[in-house]
Amino acid sequence: MIINMKPGATESEINHVIDRIKECNYQAHVIRGAERTVIGAVGSNGRRNEIEALQAAPGVETIVPIAQPFKLVSWQLRHTPTIINIGSVKIGDGGLTVMAGPCSVESPEQLLETARAVKAAGADMLRGGAYKPRTSPYDFQGLGIEALQLLKEARAETGLPVVTEVMSEADVEVVSEYADMLQIGARNMQNFSLLRRVADVNRPVLLKRGPSATIKEWLLAAEYLLAGGNKNVVLCERGIRTFETATRNTLDLAAIALAKELSHLPVIADPSHGTGLRSLVPAMSKAAVGAGADGLMIEVHPCPERAWSDGPQSMDLPGFSVLMRDLRKDVRASTEAARGAASQDSC
Ligand code: PEP
Ligand code: MN
Repeated sequence: MIINMKPGATESEINHVIDRIKECNYQAHVIRGAERTVIGAVGSNGRRNEIEALQAAPGVETIVPIAQPFKLVSWQLRHTPTIINIGSVKIGDGGLTVMAGPCSVESPEQLLETARAVKAAGADMLRGGAYKPRTSPYDFQGLGIEALQLLKEARAETGLPVVTEVMSEADVEVVSEYADMLQIGARNMQNFSLLRRVADVNRPVLLKRGPSATIKEWLLAAEYLLAGGNKNVVLCERGIRTFETATRNTLDLAAIALAKELSHLPVIADPSHGTGLRSLVPAMSKAAVGAGADGLMIEVHPCPERAWSDGPQSMDLPGFSVLMRDLRKDVRASTEAARGAASQDSC
């Protein structure tokens, strides 16, 4: 339920409503706007009738149900976009945040060479898998803690914050110690106990969309994180499974635009897993930016043909550098075009 306070409602009227919401077994989420305060009552087993009765409380203007099943991630309970700060990197501030690096961390040389190159090309964050969710149990499963240590060293040298996947509840503590941002992989999007555990740590989360998840399910997975107390969530569209087999997945561009319409959370795209083909990554990166993505996650390897995982979709270092130049040029051009249009707007 959303409780809209009257403009000019006093602090004690607002506090009374917050206290009543808590007494009724709901969480109170307060949004203080310039004109009025809006209070969300969110929860699954609260005493709804008593919240409705708050209509008669002093300072209350209207009480309306929250229309969407996902509440805290929706625009109804927050009216400004969420901006995630990771050191000096911002995600969701209107710029384009690029996370790049190998699918898997393989060796100190491989990681450092990639980290230096993506930094020089203008990437904002370093990605690299330490714990790998592989379809076959016989495929390379990741170097684990050794990889986390290498990521930490690469961060120390390049200054790039690190994002890496955490696959199980048991690893949340150690991964949070080393990483600046925790990735929940596509296959774990609906691992609700992992979501609850990650909601509890003081690290931003990159939540990938499950290969067969609807947009509603994806946003409800994000709702677990926000409801559990972690508001620093970035959504990542990484392609869904369709009848098409020519590409590894189908990058759902409309999902990027719709997620931005439905939620205040930043949305990024992963065109590497979204296509499975390196040659398509530049075009799909630009398409994702066109659809409104706040950032991109791109797999890069110094020698993709030797990669221990996802070589066919990994860009080589020169290819990534060219893509970054194009992306920055396009973003600059569109910002300048938008400024030009705004200055001509006479209405
Ligand atoms: C990855 O980022 O390397 C990865 C395994 O991604 P996804 O969960 O999207 O498949
Ligand atoms: Mn990968």
